[in-house]
Amino acid sequence: MIYLTNTLSGKKEEFKPIKAGAVGMYSCGPTVYDFAHLGNLRAYVFTDILRRIFEYNGYDVNQVVNITDVGHLVTDGDEGEDKMTKALIREGKPLNIESMTEVATFYFAKFREDLASLNIEMPKTFPRATEHIPEIIELIKKLDQKGFVYKTSDGLYFNTSKFPAYGKLGNINLEGLKEGARVTANTEKKNPIDFAVWKFNPLLGWDTPWGKGFPGWHIECSAMSVKYLGQPFDVHTGGIDHIPVHHNNEIAQSESAEGVPLANYWIHNAHLNMNGGKMAKSAGNFLTLKSLEEKGISPLAYKFWLLGARYSTQINFVNVIIDSLQKGFGNFLSAIKRIYAETNNSEGTKISEGNINEKYKKEFTNFVNDDLDTPRALALTWNLLRDEGVSSSDKIATILDFDRVFGLDIKNSLKEDFILIPENIKRLAGERNTARIAKDWKKSDKLRAEIEKNGFSVIDTNEGYSLVPLGANPSPLKK
Ligand code: AMP
Ligand code: ZN
Repeated sequence: MIYLTNTLSGKKEEFKPIKAGAVGMYSCGPTVYDFAHLGNLRAYVFTDILRRIFEYNGYDVNQVVNITDVGHLVTDGDEGEDKMTKALIREGKPLNIESMTEVATFYFAKFREDLASLNIEMPKTFPRATEHIPEIIELIKKLDQKGFVYKTSDGLYFNTSKFPAYGKLGNINLEGLKEGARVTANTEKKNPIDFAVWKFNPLLGWDTPWGKGFPGWHIECSAMSVKYLGQPFDVHTGGIDHIPVHHNNEIAQSESAEGVPLANYWIHNAHLNMNGGKMAKSAGNFLTLKSLEEKGISPLAYKFWLLGARYSTQINFVNVIIDSLQKGFGNFLSAIKRIYAETNNSEGTKISEGNINEKYKKEFTNFVNDDLDTPRALALTWNLLRDEGVSSSDKIATILDFDRVFGLDIKNSLKEDFILIPENIKRLAGERNTARIAKDWKKSDKLRAEIEKNGFSVIDTNEGYSLVPLGANPSPLKK
């Protein structure tokens, strides 16, 4: 059984799929106007882990991550500039749909590269808003026919007073939201929290029965989720910043149009902060994967650090953490590599043929199924590494099984490790082995010291010996 904290109820609930053995999952995707920052990527590491946990439990997951390539305004509401337009101005490109598509295609490709380097599995579908304009218009027509929208001079608005449950997700304080909305009052709105489903723009966009323009950001998600997953679907995810406005707006539109709930489980990731404030483009306090790599930190080291906290815990990036990221992941990998080395004979470089330890697997499953408790799952992995009661090859088999959830690409690191052992080190190790067999301890010790000077250590095993890079060696777990 999988338990998830559902923002709809505010409680941890047992997950029950709509269709046995299957999960339909929609994750609000990026607005592709710039490179993703590490905060954005935390949202996709979280959805990937959630998806992997469903798969680990045997579910067939249909995941959709939309791509917003038009219509998302800088305020997340109806005021301010369109983020894509901002990108066109920044890059000195003409203001038209063609250049918008070109810019979006570029950053969408960069986004996929970021996901790949974090070893995030690609969703089944990445629908782009500009490729779903007919579906969006159809949905707005439906809302229009049912009397949920009205026209003003700058767009078509959803009338929130017609949806009495408005604000139910996260139990939003509507008075607070109304006050916020009044600051940038649009006097033509019937209610301060009404929001645009279509924005008029005589220069940029598509023709509709109401006027030329482009869709509101929220309606894009409503139209694309129902197209690919039906309604209701199982799980909807996003960052907590989306709860008050974006997700409540999605719910208002979709549920008014179809008369059934939009999604059964709403799961939200907490923020990544930078020196105490939310990491955000607008605040200028952001880092990208590329900037980490320039500091010698691999994307997987960042992911490993994220897994040390639950998705729902706010975490803070400060310089001292950044400096320790690579070491933390390096220690973890070295510990696994040492164990792995013990499973090989002196010739061998093959992945071990051990068995998954069922006791550890059961505990691991309980942790990850308990609202994605990755910190405890990682602590359990360290315990397994230190457990003298489990054979090395079983440890490796079990850790590779856990990595179906962690997605740290451990199998590949094990392979790499052996490819990287230089020929001269192999030769020294061979000579040392000969000396050892001949009981020439002096020579054997001298050769061992030379090997260690070159960054490797020799482990003698029943079958012969193995070479591993010098690194953290987990101390045995005392029983
Ligand atoms: P956007 O491209 O602004 O729509 O954001 C893409 C995703 O990243 C959304 O799910 C946001 O909620 C999430 N997000 C943005 N900033 C952060 C942050 N600092 N920490 C965690 N998630 C974030
Ligand atoms: Zn969305």
